[in-house]
Amino acid sequence: MITTAFAGNLTVATDTNFPPFEFKDPKTGEHTGFDVEIWAAIAKEIGVQYDLQPMAFKGIVPGLQSAQLDAGIAGMSITDKRKEVIDFSDGYYDSGLLLLVKSDDETIKDIKTLDGKVVATKQGTTSVEFLKENANPKEVKLFPNDNAMFMELLTGGVDAVMFDKPVVESFVSKRGKDEVKIVGDLYAGQPYGIGFPKGSELVAKVNAALKTLKANGTYGTLYKKWFGVDP
Ligand code: GLN
Repeated sequence: MITTAFAGNLTVATDTNFPPFEFKDPKTGEHTGFDVEIWAAIAKEIGVQYDLQPMAFKGIVPGLQSAQLDAGIAGMSITDKRKEVIDFSDGYYDSGLLLLVKSDDETIKDIKTLDGKVVATKQGTTSVEFLKENANPKEVKLFPNDNAMFMELLTGGVDAVMFDKPVVESFVSKRGKDEVKIVGDLYAGQPYGIGFPKGSELVAKVNAALKTLKANGTYGTLYKKWFGVDP
C-alpha cells in the first residue's frame, strides 16, 4: 500500500484539453471547466491546498500508480483494469463513447461499419480498448490530445473519431452539424471518477465531500453551468 503525506500542496493532475471538463480559458490562460471547479469545491470542503497540473492524459494513471500525483481529475472513466492499479472516488458524471464522422459521409453508420476505415482517438483512453474489442477498422490512429484528433478528421486524415460523449458533443456544437455528425449509439456507458494512488486516505474524504456538494446544491450549480442541464 502506498500512502502519501499531505504536508504542503497536493499535486492534482488534469488533462490539458477535455472540454467542457478542463481546457485553457483563452482569455485568462488558466485551466477551467467542470472538473477544475468541482475539484476546487472538494478541496475547499476537505481543507486541502493543491497545485493543478495539466498533463497528457496517458501520463495520469501511471503518475497515480507511482504516487507522483496525489489525485487526478480528468474525465477519467472508472474501469476494472484501472482499478487494479489505482483507487477511484465514487462516480461523479455518467458518460459513454460516441462515433463522429464528416457530415457528408454516407458509409459509416455505426461501430459495425468501420471495416476498412481509419479511426482516430486519444492515447491511453477507453476508446482504444473499446475499438480493439468491438470494431474492425483498417487502422486506429492515436493522438496525444483531442485537438489533434479532431483536426485529423476535419483535414481528411481519418474517416472517424471515437471519443467521450460530452467532448464529442461540445465539438459538434462548436463546428456545426453541416461539418460533422454523430452516428450510431452511445457506446460503453461509463461513469467518471477521481483517481488516487492505491490506499490513499483522500478517497473517503473526497467521497464524503462529493455527497455534501450534491446535498447542498454546489454540484448541481456547476453541472448546470458547464453542461447547460440539471444533473
Ligand atoms: N474517459 C476517457 C478515459 O478515461 C477519456 C479521458 C480523457 O481523455 N481525459 O479514458
